[in-house]
Amino acid sequence: MNKSDCLFCKIVNREIPAELVYEDERIVAIKDINPAAPVHILLIPREHIVSLDQASNENVELLGYIQTTAAKLARELGIADKGYRLVNNCGEWGGQSVLHLHYHLLGGRQLAWPPG
Ligand code: 5GP
Repeated sequence: MNKSDCLFCKIVNREIPAELVYEDERIVAIKDINPAAPVHILLIPREHIVSLDQASNENVELLGYIQTTAAKLARELGIADKGYRLVNNCGEWGGQSVLHLHYHLLGGRQLAWPPG
């Protein structure tokens, strides 16, 4: 799949609508269309990186920025006190269905461990 066929590139570029929670020059955060928890946000870099496996040391700052922004959003959304989970699914066996790097921010209920 190339960038022009990428669902999350289309969302980032506002070609496909999504419920936007946050955006800046580097990332976009949207509500997941099929939430697995009361709060389920996807943090998506504007840059098309296929997966964590395809990220390089050039992306270290971006990856850290996604994590600190997720923590900030968790506080703003009121899920930080009880706790939350930040998840990256990588590749087929990791359960990645959209081939554009993203992190799931999940919270608002007791989460089970290990995940399935
Ligand atoms: P993955 O399985 O790749 O880790 O996560 C992809 C996520 O994107 C899934 O949780 C799925 O519900 C969500 N998703 C798929 N298509 C759309 C869409 O068109 N809009 C939004 N907001 N979320 C989507």
